[in-house]
Amino acid sequence: VSRVIPVDTFDLVIFGGTGDLARRKILPGLYRRFQAGQMPEGARIIGAARSEMDAEGYRAMIREAIEEFVPEEKRVNAPLDGFLAQLDYVAIDATGTGGWDRLAEMMRADVVRAFYFSVGPALFGALAERLHDHGIANEQSRIVVEKPFGRDLESAGKLNRTLAQHFDETQIYRIDHYLGKETVQNLMAVRFGNVLFEPLWNSQYVDHIQITVAETVGIGGRGSYYDKSGAMRDMVQNHLMQLLCLIAMEPPSRFEPDSVRDEKLKVIRALDPVRPDDIVRGQYAASGDTGSYRDDADNPDSRTESFIALKVNVSNWRWAGTPFYLRTGKRLKARASEIAVVFKDAPHSIFGEEAGRHRNILSIRLQPNEGMTLGVTIKEPGPGGMRLIDVPLDMTFADALGPEGEDVPDAYERLIMDVIRGNQTLFMRGDEVEAAWAWTDPMIEAWEEDGRRPCSYEPGSTGPEEAQILMHRAGRRWREIK
Ligand code: NAD
Repeated sequence: VSRVIPVDTFDLVIFGGTGDLARRKILPGLYRRFQAGQMPEGARIIGAARSEMDAEGYRAMIREAIEEFVPEEKRVNAPLDGFLAQLDYVAIDATGTGGWDRLAEMMRADVVRAFYFSVGPALFGALAERLHDHGIANEQSRIVVEKPFGRDLESAGKLNRTLAQHFDETQIYRIDHYLGKETVQNLMAVRFGNVLFEPLWNSQYVDHIQITVAETVGIGGRGSYYDKSGAMRDMVQNHLMQLLCLIAMEPPSRFEPDSVRDEKLKVIRALDPVRPDDIVRGQYAASGDTGSYRDDADNPDSRTESFIALKVNVSNWRWAGTPFYLRTGKRLKARASEIAVVFKDAPHSIFGEEAGRHRNILSIRLQPNEGMTLGVTIKEPGPGGMRLIDVPLDMTFADALGPEGEDVPDAYERLIMDVIRGNQTLFMRGDEVEAAWAWTDPMIEAWEEDGRRPCSYEPGSTGPEEAQILMHRAGRRWREIK
């Protein structure tokens, strides 16, 4: 079932190769591609970071990371040594001169060169400049940049211009790992590969859409960073926005980077400003042995939101009158991400109201158990007369793909292979990122100006009561978080 599409051989340099993201996601992901047989012979991964160490030291560090982050049963029959042999290391100073000549010498001709900027955005400019000045990057080279991509329109624009001094837009891969998820891509296959859905995919048939990204964790060790950001900047502007775009966009003429990204951009530009009444911001309270948001942020007067719910209108021909409800937060009841397309009631019930009525809901789950279900109304089996029940048509991918289904590549590994292939379809373009900030900025400015406090909510709940009211006002209900 799982086919491995070969990629060209490459030199992948990971700036910040000793950091948390590199050890937790990037290198374990590359190891899984190695296991799957997708790492070409001769491919090299070069860690580049501040610490002084040699290649052996780096291999030992990454061995430990993989042993920690890839479960043992997933490592059987997988020659970790073989993978580690493809690693190299260079100590480098992003803002100085140390290490750059050495890196330049290490680069090979005739292989794909990719540079992963797994460092804070403050270093992007320095890295881009040095890659260019030392002749390390060539016209075919690619750079991968992580979130956060700015904290508002101004800073994102500045970052874009900085990178543009040395790299063409076709060389810049802004990563949003939500777009690398199997289900997200399957969403496009389901929408555009079947005749069933697209004719119904509009305000005539869809009552509303819900996008939920719920986390159980608090802000933990990221408190000082998170407190300057909040749920809107950290989650909505990027991840939820990208999901909204894929649901709402017009069919691109081809599954090609700019066709897809042009359509996504049009969606972002069609978003109305959200009315203050349609925004609910929350902060988790203390409970039992866990501290409150303010404790975790170490800021007793913090007004940053750890939860946000929004009612968003996409003002275009397809969606006028069908709201998109977005919700995301920390310390909620369960870790669950879902997109739900809630269709309208059938126009008339021939069975009478007592038979029961159910709406069709297409649920696209990103985690846990990636997959889709479509709620369909059928007759309750048995002799009880015509009573209607709702049953899910289940498209859980692990089942659909058979025993190999569980080895579906994770988002990071898939996206890194796309970088090597030179396919930007699942990466955000600079103008998309800026348009998303242009939409969020005025909302953030407005609540920062009026100084309103977020509503408090209980840890382990579904968020503040006010978020329920946002839905109830329109006679709707949030989907359960489970
Ligand atoms: P980290 O602090 O754990 O690691 C930073 C890395 O950068 C280290 O390898 C360090 O040696 C290197 N570095 C710092 N200054 C340097 C310099 N002057 N010269 C050379 N190397 C230098 O950070 P992280 O958590 O791995 O995050 C890296 C980037 O990825 C950040 O932009 C972060 O916002 C983003 N990100 C991280 C995560 C995550 O889960 N950790 C998730 C999404 C995005």
